Amino acid sequence: MSQHEPKPHDPQHPYALKFIGCGHGVLFGNECVDCEIVGLIGEYKRAVKTVARVRDRLRVLGAPMPGQKKKSLPSNAVNSADAVGGRLE
Ligand SMILES: [Zn+2]
Repeated sequence: MSQHEPKPHDPQHPYALKFIGCGHGVLFGNECVDCEIVGLIGEYKRAVKTVARVRDRLRVLGAPMPGQKKKSLPSNAVNSADAVGGRLE
């Protein structure tokens, strides 16, 4: 899939000034990919912070980390094929 070239958000865009669309020049009611990307990036950043906070808290409480099984194989044994492939996303 090709990389989406993000459009700059222009608060002075006529659509934005008239409150009929966003600063990317997309009318409300139409889907704006750029607005969705901005939202998703914000969501991702919040999620990363949430994970960090939860991990720290679990560590403080001495709780086992979710997703980590005791006595499991080394994680690199399972994922070595992927690692060698060096897949890009
Ligand atoms: Zn937009």
